Formats: sequence, C-alpha cells, structure tokens
Amino acid sequence: MSTPSSIKTITYHGFTHGPRLLVLGAVHGNEICGSRAIERICAEIDSGALRLERGTVTFVPITNPLAYIRQQRAGDRNLNRNLRTTGVPQDFEDKLGNALCPLLERHDVLLDLHSFHTGGEAFAMLGPNNNQGDLEPFSRATEEEALATRLGPRRIVEGWLDTYARGVKKRTANASASERANMLSTDPAYGVGTTEYMRSRGGYAITLECGQHEAPEAPEVAYQAIRNTLAHLGLAPLPAPAGRTDLEVLRICEVIDRNHPDDAFTHPWASFDRLKSGDVIGTRHDGSTVTAPRDGFILFPNPNSLPGNEWFYFAELSDRTVDGVPASAR
Ligand SMILES: [Zn+2]
Repeated sequence: MSTPSSIKTITYHGFTHGPRLLVLGAVHGNEICGSRAIERICAEIDSGALRLERGTVTFVPITNPLAYIRQQRAGDRNLNRNLRTTGVPQDFEDKLGNALCPLLERHDVLLDLHSFHTGGEAFAMLGPNNNQGDLEPFSRATEEEALATRLGPRRIVEGWLDTYARGVKKRTANASASERANMLSTDPAYGVGTTEYMRSRGGYAITLECGQHEAPEAPEVAYQAIRNTLAHLGLAPLPAPAGRTDLEVLRICEVIDRNHPDDAFTHPWASFDRLKSGDVIGTRHDGSTVTAPRDGFILFPNPNSLPGNEWFYFAELSDRTVDGVPASAR
C-alpha cells in the first residue's frame, strides 16, 4: 500500500457559538481505542441519538495513518515528539505535522486518546500549573483540571514535560560527543507532542491513556470520556458530569536513562508499581544498583530502551491541588 498523503477529519458545527473541541485517535498507530470510540460517537450524532448543539467538535479517527496501516506506534518516527510545522519535511511525521499543527491551532480544547502496552487502569496526563516560565508557560490550568477530573478515570499523572526537559539536560551534560550523536532525544523541544503544542498556542489539552492496547474496556473508557467532554463543555445537552474527588494524583519527578545494553531491570516492572525507598529497580552494566530514591512509583518502564534514552520514570504522590481539591483531601 502506498504511503498516505492526507488525514480525514469530521467536523460538526453547532448552531450556537461555543468552544471548539478537537478529539484525536491513533496518534500512535497501534492505539485504536480512540478510533473506535470516535466512530461510535459520530454514528450517534449522525443518527440523531446524540445532539451536537453548541460550539464545534472535530474528530480525527486516525491521526497517524501510516502508523495505523502498519499497526505500530510510529510511521517514520513518534508523532508525539518534536511536533511542529517544518518548511522542508524530512519524514512522514514532518509532513503530517504540517497538517496537524494548523488543525490544533483552530481549536481551543484537545482530548487526545491513547492506550498503553502493559496492563493497568486508565489515567489522564495533566499539563503544568499556571506559570510564566520558559519551558511551558500556561494560564488555563483551572479549565484543564476541571476537564481532567470529569473524563472518568480517577488516576492523574502530571509533571511530564519539565521532568523530560531536566532529563535531556542531564543526558546532554553526561554524554560524550559520540554518544550524543546516537541519542534521539537531546533537544528539550523533542518533548513537544500534541498536548504541549496545543498549550503553546493558547489552548488546553489532556492526553487520556484509556487502558491496555487490546483491553476490551479501553474503547468504552474513550467513548465515555468523549461524552463527558461534550457534556462538560456544553456542546451536547447531556447531564454535566461532576468532578471526581477520589483522585490519585502522581507527579513525575525523575527520568532515569538506560546507559548500556547490559543495564537490566531486576523485575518485570509495570507502570504504577509501588516502590519503597531503597528498593532495587535494576542493575547497571558495571554491577551497581539503581534504587528508588524515595517511596513512590515506577512509570513507563522500557526494558529495551536504547542506551542514552529514558529507561523509566520515577513518580511520587503529588501535593498539587487539582480542580480545587487539595492533596490532603484525596
Ligand atoms: Zn500513545
């Protein structure tokens, strides 16, 4: 099959002015729960079972068509890194970025639907607190938190981009020039995906990880999240969902790189496995151990990551007040 040269979007315009929502499925080609949920929602709108009355909603059932055809995460590379427009596209995702970035800019709110490799419960990825820093300045945290707590899942993860950027700095400082040339991710801008791009253009955005790739409940989680978003934003006349108050909020605070092909985990870790301070997570090629710095959780462990790239993330319970609920009340 030839390489795709376009993406398909479906837009509904309500007759009353309101927010402009963008819903993405299959940004990673093997994460299809969002695609199935979008098809179901569009069928409901088309049949009249669900009424879109206000604002605008655009659905992109298959955001990375090359990766989707190949039933793999990426086409030429990960679409959810280094997302920007480019004058001279070097690969498929560069070309796709030139179509996707203007689409993001034409909307106010992004719901990006993903799934993950290892089993576990769904979680939402929340952006930063309001801030005027250089990395990810933001002023819409209140609105973003309100949406995150109404999507359905109770688990929320925050602090991704600044941890990623600190990891990049550490990585660049530690590596020799030849190692650096082999690394994919020495530029902090490499951490910019769909949600970061949306925030950089004045919108707000949530990534929802709906469950394991093949989990039968993942498309249902994605479907409910779309309905809850339409209701919360007032686009459809559905009962507005209440924000969850039983949240589990984790803050990603450290990224640990794999440095050598012989660096190995001591256990087949899954995301959100609990760690006690001092627990041995893995052993380095030189025999030294990598241990948990404090009580916390392991996130996104990748036993096969390329040396010079992230091996796993370490997270703790967050002290952030989310949607008006202080950490002490969770
Ligand atoms: Zn994904």
